Amino acid sequence: MSVTKGTGETGDATPSNARTVAIVALVIAAVVTSAYFVGRMAGTDTGGRVTMAFPTDSPTPSKRAPRPAAQRQRPVVARLPAVQPITGPNRPPLPAERGGPYGSRKTTGTPEVALTFDDGPHPTHTPQTLALLRKYGIKATFCLVGVNVMAYPRLVRTIAADGHTLCNHSWRHDTKLGLRSRPDIRTDLLRTNKAIMAAAPGTRVSYYRQPGGAWTAAIVGVARELGMTSLHWTVDPQDWRKPGAGSIAGTVNASTTRGAIVLLHDAGGDRRGTVAALRSILPNLSHRFRLCALPPGVDPPRLHGRELPLKPGQV
Ligand SMILES: [Zn+2]
Repeated sequence: MSVTKGTGETGDATPSNARTVAIVALVIAAVVTSAYFVGRMAGTDTGGRVTMAFPTDSPTPSKRAPRPAAQRQRPVVARLPAVQPITGPNRPPLPAERGGPYGSRKTTGTPEVALTFDDGPHPTHTPQTLALLRKYGIKATFCLVGVNVMAYPRLVRTIAADGHTLCNHSWRHDTKLGLRSRPDIRTDLLRTNKAIMAAAPGTRVSYYRQPGGAWTAAIVGVARELGMTSLHWTVDPQDWRKPGAGSIAGTVNASTTRGAIVLLHDAGGDRRGTVAALRSILPNLSHRFRLCALPPGVDPPRLHGRELPLKPGQV
């Protein structure tokens, strides 16, 4: 073939060369023509997909090709996990929640509402509170002060026997405990736990509440080392200021939502207002929510004398 023979024959328009050029031109024309038609067909087929790939650039979104049925049926929002109730005979630990100061717990993390009573036990107001809780079949959580536990150990036993959960509220209601050294904090919390467990053998103390809500990183950390969840609150009617039963009940009934931890006091002063408010709060809330004692918890796991990360929810 002369075309492949040598470049020196360029311009030598022999008949063989002319035929070859014509064939090549025909092939090129055929390729270009078929590419044009393939392009048109492809454009028609994939026009919808191209538009969907750049939806924000499309000036006429209403003219987009309809999505395939499988795409339209895809759920927009991920399914929420099932809620585990924390009441019942085999209740699991609370789901983790660290919404309060320094990572303390602020809500139950479930739809259930937890009533908490601080500063006791008190020889008058604690039995009145227990009687009302019994009347409405409600379990709660009591945050106890060490010196009061020593003074009224029988009341601690009654609280535990009624199925309420026990919580450490420091030895003598020290609002500055969080500012003290970690060894001092540890001594105070351990002494209080020891008194509670001596008063009501077989109980566990898995929660700590700092007096005055004066949390610090140190006290949350020591409580955690001792296997206690730092327990803050969601609803505070300021009942210790004695605003009257109407105000206490009004605030609690209006402010309580699912998962709330409600702060009340059965000691630390004259609590007739709180006890009277309970006659409204207990029927009101128990009609709207499931009220629960916080899970009493388990001892923190240990390995070779060292504490391991606590159970889920014990944060
Ligand atoms: Zn208190």
